Parts: sequence; C-alpha cells; structure tokens
Amino acid sequence: MKTTGKVTGIIANLVTIEVDGPVAQNEICYIDLSGTKLMAEVIKVNGKEAYVQVYESTRGLKTGDTAEFEGHMLEVTLGPGLLSSNYDGLQNNLETMEGVFLKRGEYTSPLDMEKLWHFTPTAEPGTEVSAADWLGEVKEGWLPHKIMVPFIYKEQYILKHVAPEGDYKVSDKIAVITDSEGNDHEITMMQKWPVKVAITAYRDKPRPYRIMETGVRCIDTFNPIAEGGTGFIPGPFGCGKTVLQHAISKQAEADVIIMAACGERANEVVEIFTEFPLLIDVHTGRHLMERTTIICNTSNMPVAAREASVYTAMTIGEYYRSMGLRVLLLADSTSRWAQALREMSNRMEELPGADAFPMDLPAIISNFYARAGLVNLNNGKTGSVTFIGTVSPAGGNLKEPVTESTKKSARCFYALSQSRADKKRYPAVDPIDSYSKYLEYPEIVSDLSTRVNKEWVEKVMKGKNIILRGKEAYEQINILGDDGVPIEYHRKFWKSELIDFIILQQDAFDKIDSVTSLERQEYMYSLVIDICEKDFSFEDFEECGTFYKGLINILRQMNYSEFKSENFNKYLEQLNKEINNGR
Ligand code: ADP
Ligand code: MG
Repeated sequence: MKTTGKVTGIIANLVTIEVDGPVAQNEICYIDLSGTKLMAEVIKVNGKEAYVQVYESTRGLKTGDTAEFEGHMLEVTLGPGLLSSNYDGLQNNLETMEGVFLKRGEYTSPLDMEKLWHFTPTAEPGTEVSAADWLGEVKEGWLPHKIMVPFIYKEQYILKHVAPEGDYKVSDKIAVITDSEGNDHEITMMQKWPVKVAITAYRDKPRPYRIMETGVRCIDTFNPIAEGGTGFIPGPFGCGKTVLQHAISKQAEADVIIMAACGERANEVVEIFTEFPLLIDVHTGRHLMERTTIICNTSNMPVAAREASVYTAMTIGEYYRSMGLRVLLLADSTSRWAQALREMSNRMEELPGADAFPMDLPAIISNFYARAGLVNLNNGKTGSVTFIGTVSPAGGNLKEPVTESTKKSARCFYALSQSRADKKRYPAVDPIDSYSKYLEYPEIVSDLSTRVNKEWVEKVMKGKNIILRGKEAYEQINILGDDGVPIEYHRKFWKSELIDFIILQQDAFDKIDSVTSLERQEYMYSLVIDICEKDFSFEDFEECGTFYKGLINILRQMNYSEFKSENFNKYLEQLNKEINNGR
C-alpha cells in the first residue's frame, strides 16, 4: 500500500503534504496537478507533515491536491547506453526531446529499451557471486561494459544460470542467482540505484597512489592530480574554467568522462551541448562524446533538479568505476549546486550558516568529494573516479563559504586569477596560490620518480621557488624602478617569466601546444630549469631583458612544433647558440 497525502501549503517549490502513512527521508512522491504528475523529494518529515521539494514549477498547484509516495529514493537507471547520452538531473534523456527543456510532468526513459546489445557471458554457473561481480560484457562504443550483479544483492549468491552469447535488450533476463534460502532472483542488464547513496561494492579504497596525466602542463608538472583524486578550479567568470575542464577531458588518461553541467546559464549549457560533441579525443582521434555522458541543468530549472544533478553524475561515475574503468567526473559549477542547497534551506527556514548557506554545507561538500577515489574491486582489478569541480565565487572572492568548504575536501587547488586572465596568461591558474597535496604523498612521489625521473619532485619545488622569488623581485622593481634595484632582481624576475611563458602558459586552441605528454613536459621543464640554474652576466637590466625575451621566443616556438621534428631541432640549436653566445 502506497502512502498518500494532501497538499496543505506551498512556498515556491517547497510543498507541505499531510500524509496518511509512513514516509521516509528522501523518498520520492508524485503530486497530481490536474492529471500532470509532478515529481518531488521528501526533505523533512514532522509527524503527519511531509515537506517535499518539487523538481518542477509548482505554478497552479492548490491546497487539497493529492500526492502518492513511491517508497524509494531518487534513483538513477544504470545499464548500457548511458554513454553519449545527454540527461538532465533527473536522468531525462534530452536527446529524445525537442530542445533542452522538458514540458512539466514529462519524464523520459534514460535507456533505449528496444536496442539490442551483443552480450558475452564471462562468469560460470555454479560460482559464488555478489554485488558488482561481473557476469558478462557488451560493447558500448568500443568500451567493454560489464554486466554486473546489481548492487542491491549484497549477500553471497550462487549463479544458477547465465544467458548464452547473443543479442539482448536491456530488460531481457541474462542471469539468475540463488540466495542462501534457495530463492531465485532474475537479473537483467539494467538496474536502479539511489543517487544519494554511494556504491560501495568493492574491496577497499586505498589512498590514490598514481598520477593521472592530463596533458596540461600547469597541472601535470606543477600540481599533478592523482587517479581517483579530487581537485577544484575556483575562478571568476571568464577566467577559463570551462576551457580548462574541456582541455582536461580531451586529454586525461580516463576511459569515461561524466560532465555535470550544473546550473550554469542556459546559453552556457547549450554551448556544452554543441561544443562537447565536437571535441576530439587526442588519444584515439574519435569523438569524445562516444565515451561521455552529460548531465545538465540550467539555473532556470527548478532548484531541486539542480541539486540532484551532481549526485546523478557521481552515481553513474561509480557505476563505471565498478567495471574497472577510469572515470573522470567534472562538475561546472559546484557553486550553482551550493546555491540550490541554499535556496532550499532558506525556504525551509533553517537556521542559516555563513552567507545564508546551510549550516552543514561543509559536510555536504566533503561527503560528495569523498565518493571519488581509486578502489580495489572484489576481483582484484582497480577502478577510479577522479573528480574535478569548478567553483564560481561571486566577485572572485576566495573567502566565500563554497570555496572555503571545498578547499577542505579537495586535494588539488587550481586557483584561476583574474589578473592572469586579464593579461591573457592562459590557463590563468595562479602558480603561487595553487597546490596539489598529492606532491606530499610518498606513493605519488615514488610514482613520479619512476614515471618521470628520480629528482622530479625536487625539481618541481625548485621551479615553484623560482616563481615565488620572481614575484618578490617584480614587486621590488615596481616600487624602486628598473634602475633602482640590482641586476640580480631583473634576473630573478626573468627566470620566473621563463617558467611562466614556457611551462605554465599553454594555448588550449593550438593543435600541438594544447596537449603535452609527460615525456615532453619532462624534457621542456628540465631544459627551462637548467637555463634558470645558469647565472648569466649582463651590463644592464635592458640587456638582461632582451636576452631572456630571446630565449622565451625560441622556447615558445619549440612548444608549438612537433617534438623531435626538424623544426623542433632547429629551435633547439638556435637556443644553444643563444645561450653560449659569449655569456
Ligand atoms: P569561465 O568558464 O571561467 O567563465 P571560459 O572557460 O569560458 O571562462 O574562458 C573564457 C575565455 O578565455 C575563452 O573563451 C578563451 O578565449 C579564453 N581562454 C581561457 N583559457 C584559455 C587557454 N588555455 N588558451 C587560450 N584561451 C583561453
Ligand atoms: Mg564557464
């Protein structure tokens, strides 16, 4: 028997309902608005009164309208066909719709129910199985999509039957498992899972121990992110958050990309829809979209749907992680998500925390980031979800609550600076404020020393120090004038410019410069550090500037030319000549 109820109060999307039976926190219900069913989620229960947030506009809803409670939480449907799909936060398939927006009360099927998938069994009948164990596989694009024991089957079962190789729909029976009491359970290729509950059907979650190459130099060389790690990109509007995330998604060592475009302006979401399908995967030359799922909401969609989208995205990420794949989850921007939380909390008249955000904002953010990670699956393989979110702090103020809370949870901090963006120094990641805590992990240091070279982290610290000294020198020169400081100040400044122009700045739109392999990053960075360790002598600051500007020009040309190509060697020769030119 479903619990039902009657609407007693409405404040925008927050509706109070008098119920006739039990309701659970986060349970889903449908409110009947003259035949149109509006989906809503329980966010507070007080005796016979349930507070629900409606995922749609409540225009026209009246007191006395009826509601029916579903007995389960907001769920996401998991199965083959998620990739290359565009969904909204409630997993409505936006491709099957006209335009980006759905009509009120309209929900679409997330998966193609008619499509046939070629299934190959991999598990033997008679073996013991449990949640997330692999039973077989279908090809989704060119990725192996594992068909797993659904995550709800947490106990041990005996695999009674598995379907022979052949073509099946997602709803066809492909296996039967038997529980300890002898009851059979039928398994299909699709399953449902509540979005706000982490999928934990794995053996353990060790600390991340290897880096994830992104091809972006200011990340890989200076502040690497770990596979299964977390990072965030705060930055004011127009500083390059979206460009940086796109660059990472094109190039990173990941099998699956999940893009949560949450609550940005409608035109930005349309941009993602039009731009993402055009992005080309630098590893395979194929469309990135083939292994991408986009979950999007705009700020003009109802607040509850915006809140749901990041959870939907994370759950899909965890699903692919269980298949032993490397998932990269991107959210742009988590500020809109936090604003959705704030709107809800304010309507509920909860005691507000800083800037009227909910008191438990730090806990909500940290619980979310904690769902990322590298895991050891029960079969001994690994899978990972690496999460990078952007934050758009109002007025670029990094002291606001969302940035502060995120800083406590994310291990990498890529601060975009307005002044760097104004000077067109892209990506505008501030080399002094930004950091990667992974550089302090002995496991990561040792991974870098085998993958790159033994003294790598030491060398990185050297470079960071040069940047810092350069900034100090620059400030002194600004105060005292070019002539007012010893030549040493100019040398320090130009050394930091060398690192800035050659390593940190990277043109996301140049065919070659946009992606730099780790091998090439090592080569270029070592070259630059070697030059920085030489102290050339100059007559005056002008000569100093001219010399380093010359080096920057030649080195930049090297960035734009194919590694080890004729052009590259030509510039290298020129560089050596310049350096040895009597100095
Ligand atoms: P945000 O998402 O922070 O509002 P965008 O990512 O849309 O900002 O970037 C704004 C503009 O900055 C881009 O349209 C582009 O012209 C420029 N830009 C940002 N990053 C780079 C880059 N790495 N290389 C070249 N141009 C860039
Ligand atoms: Mg943007």
